[in-house]
Amino acid sequence: MQSQKQFKRRFSFEFFPPKTDQGKEKLQNVRNQLAEVNPDFFSVTFGAGGSTRDRTIETVLNLHSQGISTAPHLSCVGGTRQEIGELLDLYREHGINRIVALRGDMPSGMGAAGELRYANELVEFIREHSGDTFNLEVAAYPEFHPQARNAEEDLKNFARKVQAGANSAITQYFFNADSYFYFIDRLEKMGVTIPVVPGIMPIVNFSNLVRFSDMCGAEIPRWIRKQLEAYGDDSDSIRKFGEEVVTEMCEKLLAAGAPGLHFYTLNQVEPSISIWKNLGISEREKIAF
Ligand code: FAD
Repeated sequence: MQSQKQFKRRFSFEFFPPKTDQGKEKLQNVRNQLAEVNPDFFSVTFGAGGSTRDRTIETVLNLHSQGISTAPHLSCVGGTRQEIGELLDLYREHGINRIVALRGDMPSGMGAAGELRYANELVEFIREHSGDTFNLEVAAYPEFHPQARNAEEDLKNFARKVQAGANSAITQYFFNADSYFYFIDRLEKMGVTIPVVPGIMPIVNFSNLVRFSDMCGAEIPRWIRKQLEAYGDDSDSIRKFGEEVVTEMCEKLLAAGAPGLHFYTLNQVEPSISIWKNLGISEREKIAF
């Protein structure tokens, strides 16, 4: 973990672009409450294949104009160089300076893979097209990407993104801090030393969490799964337990030198804000890198 300690910490919240007017209004309220704790930035997801393109742009520009730097996610699957180039130009014109660069997953039944096959090719293209305009974040997988041929290949593929020009990374969520520590150690041995910020998934709904974790390859440790199962429909107990478990893991990560945290808010104020307050993040030293 030595390499991570040199970086200033930064803290961020992730949203998805709302579909309805009601969703937009709700996100505005969420934004207002989360803005009070002064995060380093917000980020907004992008439906692979361009399915949320316009909504992502609208949400990013709206949030960015309200004073907190906002980073669009941008996935290359299904897109052409020209389309991606136009999107980069639009973001640059609006003063966006950070992008989360991803391959994405093609929704089943939707068209061809696109001109850029992997995130390292996207990072390379963004550098070619936009130089150093953007601070580029990429995805990292402490429990390895579900399609990776093996752990070794996945680490090498991560390193390709760094060689292509990524500045920092945000991880897929995990509930086992050791997987993150081990991942960082492996990167250090390979000489890869960019900030790798843990992505934090608050626990709110057991069945959704199981479904999503199966899809993205994040492991829910047996002891957490069993405890959540035992609570059945008692959503208050699930939230309380979830908040405790996630707060403790975040404490452990920060104490070991993790360079910040990125919260997958699911467009909800709670429990991200409670975890943030439990950790005393606003009082900790934090400066965006
Ligand atoms: P890559 O880094 O390209 O890796 C994908 C797979 O290909 C891995 O198994 C890797 O080992 C392998 N690989 C990589 N490069 C090569 C190569 N050169 N040759 C051979 N194999 C290679 N999805 C969305 O649709 N929208 C979002 O907004 C979104 N935001 C995310 C934010 C974060 C922080 C994270 C962690 C994930 C996010 N995702 C999002 C999910 C992500 O798009 C998927 O996990 C996707 O399957 C992989 O994207 P990637 O950028 O990690 O791909």
